[in-house]
Amino acid sequence: MRFKSTAVFLCVLLLGMVGNCAHAQNVKPYTGPLFDAHLHYNEEAWNGKVGPHNVPDVVQRMNKSGVKAFIANSRPNAGTITLAASAEVKAAGMQVVPFIRLYRNRADYSGWFADESIYQMVLTEYAKGTASGAYKGIGEFHLYDSANANGEVAKKLMRFAQDKQLAVLAHVDDDAIDLLMAHAPQARLIWAHTGIGGASVARVRALLTKYPKLMGELSYRPGLTCESGQLCPEWRSLVLDFPDRFLIGSDTWINQRWAYYEDTMSSYRTWLGGLPNQVAQNIAWRNGAALFNLKETYDK
Ligand SMILES: [Zn+2]
Repeated sequence: MRFKSTAVFLCVLLLGMVGNCAHAQNVKPYTGPLFDAHLHYNEEAWNGKVGPHNVPDVVQRMNKSGVKAFIANSRPNAGTITLAASAEVKAAGMQVVPFIRLYRNRADYSGWFADESIYQMVLTEYAKGTASGAYKGIGEFHLYDSANANGEVAKKLMRFAQDKQLAVLAHVDDDAIDLLMAHAPQARLIWAHTGIGGASVARVRALLTKYPKLMGELSYRPGLTCESGQLCPEWRSLVLDFPDRFLIGSDTWINQRWAYYEDTMSSYRTWLGGLPNQVAQNIAWRNGAALFNLKETYDK
């Protein structure tokens, strides 16, 4: 048998499915609305005022990418508050889902789980709300050592989130998922970069099965995509088995991510286009819309 290119040969070799490979070469990108479930508007993006990525700039990037709603979580929270009050965001018809960030500055990344002043800040921010309404979640937070999931403030925040029905966006490893869920079994935990830290797809599957409210956000997920930017076989089968549990996100944690925002979103559209339409619509939009009671903007 002869193959047109090495890429096609490898595709056939790895997947053993000629039909799927041919499909991957010709797949049409998903064209519906997107929900960006992991967006930061950090201080360095706009310096509290204009640049390099002022509000019109980021709104234009989201608009061009077909983003109709987004989770805003920014260091410090001023970025989120600004987007939530923005006339440009409103004029573009986008819905803001504001999250309370735990970090006032970079130093807070490494000690928040034991810092009572951060817990108090979260309570104060929650009481204030935003121009787009109440906060809908907390995070993103990081745990570089999963044992810190048992820090007093981590425990209190998980329970607070559960009581107020706030979602929690957590950049943690698989062990920390178990620890965090033990504090608040009904919490709506969104696992940033699902499985980051080396968890296998089998382990991710086991955790999704164990915790029916656990959601997976897919930015920076190593091993997610393979040939032609389509999902790798193991991931494809996981998202087909759990079509209601995944979200996509930009993770604009540094300015470079804003500079390439449209490319990031376009790469999601590539692999979403390779999924059955209903599954693509769920991951792109409906799972987030259901989680946060968003207004339906589906126009397809
Ligand atoms: Zn992030």
